[in-house]
Amino acid sequence: MTLSHGELLYEGKAKRIYASADAQQVLVEFKNDATAFNAQKKAQLEHKGRLNCQISACLFELLERHGIPTHYVGVADATWMVVQRVEVIPIEVVLRNTATGSLCRETPIPQGTALDPALLDLYYKDDALGDPLLTDARIALLGVVSAELRQRLEALARQVNAVLQPFFKDLGLQLVDFKLELGLNQAGELLVADEISPDTCRLWDLSSTDANERILDKDRFRKDLGGVIEAYGEVCKRVQGACPEPRNCG
Ligand code: UDP
Repeated sequence: MTLSHGELLYEGKAKRIYASADAQQVLVEFKNDATAFNAQKKAQLEHKGRLNCQISACLFELLERHGIPTHYVGVADATWMVVQRVEVIPIEVVLRNTATGSLCRETPIPQGTALDPALLDLYYKDDALGDPLLTDARIALLGVVSAELRQRLEALARQVNAVLQPFFKDLGLQLVDFKLELGLNQAGELLVADEISPDTCRLWDLSSTDANERILDKDRFRKDLGGVIEAYGEVCKRVQGACPEPRNCG
């Protein structure tokens, strides 16, 4: 189904953003497009848009119940979400509870090392540059965020981790790492934006010890493991089983 919407404002790799009747809100359409390695690898995965939309909606509402501000307003249809219009801060905040992925490719830290407190890495959001890792000095040089906003952004990301990690654990899932994007709304409030889904989180099934079998996130696509949608479906089933039906404002 295609919802009635205004002009296309932006098309990203996994979502399209449209204007809505309310100037302070936009409509997000979650696409079935899957991309990895900075869009060098592409595929269409039926149901991915719906699953990521519904998982994100449940998780945004969970954060909201814990007093964490997000851009989420409600769902409008299976693959559509209504969100507050925000100015996205061009920084990707990655929280790592367990070492894997780029951390293990770029440093000698062994795979699977528990990171407590979680390691927080900031990346400059720029596909053309391959989202480079930021340092304190580079942040200051680029002037991308003030020291004050950076502190708020990091504190908010850690609060999100403090809610999501135990939530997923209760569902038998290890929250290995995840990426957040944050934005400022018209009132200057800092909000969790974008999406929180198996596209942006690494989730391992705690009931499996097999290094590949336990993967229930986008690494199945990155590593050609197959069963991508089945894995996303499993995450969605567990999340929905622990959350109320997302509010519908369509
Ligand atoms: N991530 C993401 N978008 C990006 C880069 C990373 O959602 O552009 C997520 C990724 O799915 C993982 C976490 O951030 O959950 C850490 O990713 P990492 O830095 O290990 O990068 P990768 O190994 O995926 O290249």
